[in-house]
Amino acid sequence: MRLTILGSGTNVHPTRAAAGYLVQTDQTLLLDFGPRTLVNLIKTKTDRHRITHILFSHFHADHFSDFITFFFDAVYVSKFVGVRPDLTLIGPRGTRRLFGSILRTFPGFKTAPFRVRIREVADRSFSLGHTRIVPRTVLHSSRLHCLGYRIEYGGKVLAYSGDAQHCVNLVRLCRHADVAVLDCSFPANRPGPGHMHAGDCGKVAQEAGVTRLILSHLYPIAERYDVKRQAGRLFAGRTTVGRDLMTVVL
Ligand SMILES: [Zn+2]
Ligand SMILES: [Zn+2]
Repeated sequence: MRLTILGSGTNVHPTRAAAGYLVQTDQTLLLDFGPRTLVNLIKTKTDRHRITHILFSHFHADHFSDFITFFFDAVYVSKFVGVRPDLTLIGPRGTRRLFGSILRTFPGFKTAPFRVRIREVADRSFSLGHTRIVPRTVLHSSRLHCLGYRIEYGGKVLAYSGDAQHCVNLVRLCRHADVAVLDCSFPANRPGPGHMHAGDCGKVAQEAGVTRLILSHLYPIAERYDVKRQAGRLFAGRTTVGRDLMTVVL
């Protein structure tokens, strides 16, 4: 399994794209598709037309807005250059309503020469080929259903928190993961609502017994502090501050 961070920041950040991750197993998947991640996806030289499944954690703009640009391009290319495979959009409650209305709003989308499937998931695992996906409801916003994802392939486990606070489901999601990519919006000494800070990330990683922790979803304020060291006070394993276009092979 190969993970490429397309975006390790948030909506507006001077140096990082917002949330987005390319995961390559026997499938080519995206986890979230926030602003500026499409440009980074193109930089990876991955054929974007081979992406068949996009998994969304929740619908704050920093996790999905580049989908619109991606989809316009996909329709255009498949009409005039070459047909792409069908596309499945997977996400929490609200996925059907959001993408249903986006697809209805733009007349050109209706004539896409490939199928678009929309699938809402909650706390039940499913498989795509040989890749097992475990979505879990996590605590982030009282107004939105929010998911983290656990991806299992070839005996390796990648856990992604989406946006989350420390909660039991998040620790379960990360249990014995080889790599856990966690929402480290804030430094431990400057916490904020709805997200984890570096200390929380260390705590989740330690409680779940993960092998490697990657801190991501950094707000600009997190850059001003040593978040790696702050997480390391609670987590004894390897900790890395995520960077755009960083690749990890599991
Ligand atoms: Zn959010
Ligand atoms: Zn976010």
